[in-house]
Amino acid sequence: MSSTVPVAIVGGGIGGLALALELNAAGIECRVFESVAQLSAVGVGINLLPHATRHLDRLGLLPELTSAAVSTRESVFFNRFGQLIHTEPTGLNAGYRWPQFSVHRGDLQAILAGAVRDRLGPDALVTGHTCVDAAEDATGVTLTFAHPDGTTTTHRATAVVGCDGIHSAIRKQLHPAEGAPVYSGYNMWRGVTVHEPILSGASMIRAGWLATGKLVVYPIRDNVDAAGRQLVNWVVEIETPQHADRDWNRTGRVEDFLDHFADWHFDWLDVPALMRDADSILEYPMVDQDPLPWWGTDRITLLGDAAHPMVPRGSNGGGQAVLDAAALAEALRTHSQIPAAFAAYEQLRRPATTAVVQANRTNPPDAILREVYERTGDRPFDDIGNVITESELDRILAEYKRTAGYSLGALNDA
Ligand SMILES: Cc1cc2nc3c(=O)[nH]c(=O)nc-3n(C[C@H](O)[C@H](O)[C@H](O)COP(=O)(O)OP(=O)(O)OC[C@H]3O[C@@H](n4cnc5c(N)ncnc54)[C@H](O)[C@@H]3O)c2cc1C
Repeated sequence: MSSTVPVAIVGGGIGGLALALELNAAGIECRVFESVAQLSAVGVGINLLPHATRHLDRLGLLPELTSAAVSTRESVFFNRFGQLIHTEPTGLNAGYRWPQFSVHRGDLQAILAGAVRDRLGPDALVTGHTCVDAAEDATGVTLTFAHPDGTTTTHRATAVVGCDGIHSAIRKQLHPAEGAPVYSGYNMWRGVTVHEPILSGASMIRAGWLATGKLVVYPIRDNVDAAGRQLVNWVVEIETPQHADRDWNRTGRVEDFLDHFADWHFDWLDVPALMRDADSILEYPMVDQDPLPWWGTDRITLLGDAAHPMVPRGSNGGGQAVLDAAALAEALRTHSQIPAAFAAYEQLRRPATTAVVQANRTNPPDAILREVYERTGDRPFDDIGNVITESELDRILAEYKRTAGYSLGALNDA
């Protein structure tokens, strides 16, 4: 099969599918080429904050997402002794015009893929197409794809967007001399467990600290059984000198981290039980890449993790891909020439996402946990007000929201 298409999207993950829907809404023809032979519910939980759900609302996806996801009501911080540090409302509960969603990545991808097929037609998303080359000339790009049966095909496009994630072939081709991924020194294990609702039943919980063991817990599906239990996503992050390569599907072992949480029996959650009862556990290193000095060329650009892989500490990986998609569609809608549109997109999104990559390294929301860990010398406190003030806590959170683009007032007025 061969085709000619105005915009070829390489990668049918969160960013690529969001871009297809944005381009379709802008009246621009496109086609998505995805590597896997069949989309399946891989990964575990992912968060979408109001700056991203705002765009998904404009695309008419909120009803479906609302029934598949959990609309997160609050973000809660604890130390490793289970003592409450801080609570802040999130999403609609905080006064945003759009919700925060905690959702299974597979559910999110399925909703986006379904909308692409419904709106753009069944051939708009093709699977089993692994991009192995993109050759640019004055009028377009010739893409070469490898297929599961060992054959290759070529496709011609006027422009190409590399939405092919952390191992992006398009990025490697554009930036062959780029340095190796940067390991943060923390390894991560992720799991899902069927569990009774914890706290509000819509709480995003962060607890402990990386040096001794940090935990993130949030529900991603409601009412998964007759008892009204939820599918609860949890993430463990621990300072670890060695790490394996980045692979979203690498299986993890509970015995590699359970000891760090052996005495985390709180009145609001029995952490070791949550981990032992997991349906599945995955292992992933906290790795990012130094921001690029430029992304693309006249007719090839990058989007999402392919453009700006970040450590997952601010619930922004998926959201920034959705923001990229909205910005790129707008640039293509408002510029008659593709090189000018790609340049305008990069000028807007590269500095914005560079700031998020850097903030995730240094001061994401969980910096609150670091402050309390350091100021208490990793001991229980009598009164959190003597450790850190409300205004310090608010400052850390407000700074990150500003950097990532979801300050309440600015977003609601947008
Ligand atoms: C299998 C998997 C599981 C994940 N699990 C989680 C999770 O549990 N929690 C979380 O927060 N984030 C997870 N992520 C990452 C998360 O989806 C992204 O960080 C974020 O949504 C940004 O989206 P993206 O579209 O840039 O990248 P992704 O969503 O990673 O999408 C990239 C897509 O490109 C495809 N692709 C790769 N190479 C090629 C190629 N050469 N040709 C064609 N297609 C290609 C991939 O198969 C994938 O579908 C996962 C990603 C993947 C691929």
